[in-house]
Amino acid sequence: MPAIRGANSKKKTRRSTRGLDQVHADVASKKHLQQHLDTHAPEDLPGFGQHYCVECAKFFESQTNLDKHTKGKPHKRRLRQLKDEPYSQKEAEAAAGLTTDNGRKVEESEMVDVGDEYHAEFRKPLAIFAAVGGE
Ligand SMILES: [Zn+2]
Repeated sequence: MPAIRGANSKKKTRRSTRGLDQVHADVASKKHLQQHLDTHAPEDLPGFGQHYCVECAKFFESQTNLDKHTKGKPHKRRLRQLKDEPYSQKEAEAAAGLTTDNGRKVEESEMVDVGDEYHAEFRKPLAIFAAVGGE
């Protein structure tokens, strides 16, 4: 049934899947994936969440279904989509000419020097204040 769909429609539908960038992070890091899986209670999931396709972010009833799915067209299409790196904010900024070049790295000893100077400057008025107060 075609309908006029709002911007949030995709998020609300039962069959919605995770975004490609999210899946990319899932594949790269087990922790990221676990965090996503932890948001679901196993008893609410098909097959108690035992059969999960990471790339498609889908749960299956049985191992047979999952095996069938991994051989199927939608799964392979998804793998192809995942081959490309997700478009990141950094890339977008680089394209716009904004770079995050911080120049040379500051040595740790230099940082300490700057800190001491700063504190010395900061304490001066206080010292004067203390001297006035003492009189
Ligand atoms: Zn899949």
